Amino acid sequence: MIETNYEGLNAEQKELLDAAAEVMETAYNPYSGFFVGAALRTKDGRIFTGSNVENAAHGSICAERSAIVRANAEGCRQFTDVAVIARGTDFDTKEVTSPCGACRQMLFEAAQLSSENLKAILSTTNKDKIVLTTIEELLPLGFGPGDLGIDLERFR
Ligand code: ZN
Repeated sequence: MIETNYEGLNAEQKELLDAAAEVMETAYNPYSGFFVGAALRTKDGRIFTGSNVENAAHGSICAERSAIVRANAEGCRQFTDVAVIARGTDFDTKEVTSPCGACRQMLFEAAQLSSENLKAILSTTNKDKIVLTTIEELLPLGFGPGDLGIDLERFR
């Protein structure tokens, strides 16, 4: 885990985080008022984004899972990096926003499909504090398809 800021990112990392910040503004968040954006970079260099979507029954889908679902619909399940950024309705985050438990599990699954340790860029609203980490650090000893003896080859 490395703590840095926007200037400490390389061009590809900045591009991914900027994509997450842009899509963050599309959040459908009448209940929480919290805006979250996530961006995934695929192994072949494409970027898929997602924002949080809530509903009156207080079920919601987070930005990270929205991005995964969007990429899946386009036939892509192999990622190298994910960026996450958030803001409140009337405040900027002072600490980085980190994926919730459900998203960590989905990102872990994506990492198994990608056969690599998915890298994560977690940022404050103003990008003045950024944590660079990995899914293995976010979900140590994760339970995955391998534990069930599942071969994911035909899903890649
Ligand atoms: Zn989540």
